[in-house]
Amino acid sequence: MDCIFCKIVAGTIPAKKIREDDELVAFFDIDPKAPTHILVIPKKHIASLAQAEAGDAPLLGHLLEAAADIAREQGLAQGYRVVISTGPHGGQTVDHLHVHLLGGRQMHWPPG
Ligand code: 5GP
Ligand code: ZN
Repeated sequence: MDCIFCKIVAGTIPAKKIREDDELVAFFDIDPKAPTHILVIPKKHIASLAQAEAGDAPLLGHLLEAAADIAREQGLAQGYRVVISTGPHGGQTVDHLHVHLLGGRQMHWPPG
């Protein structure tokens, strides 16, 4: 499987992992867009949110709950932004579902 995030899950390419359980891995983004920029990904390969199925609902919930817990751990008490880029118009560049956790600065709206 030629998927960079599956390789991070497998440990065949390195990442600065901060959390791992049976279903997910969280690691620091290699090109951070905020002082804190973490990616939370399912171990299961789901190409994007658009490919998620009804049976993935508990997994999707787990990803969001983990993002909130990691935000607490990282001290993002003033808030943060959670982003799931989906498909070409969503700006998705890695075709393995991932939750961006961005914090440590003021976010703006609308996003680019
Ligand atoms: P997207 O553009 O799909 O919303 O987000 C993909 C994210 O993955 C980008 O923020 C990019 O910096 C990050 N990324 C791409 N390749 C790697 C990698 O090999 N390691 C890590 N840690 N992050 C990566
Ligand atoms: Zn993958």
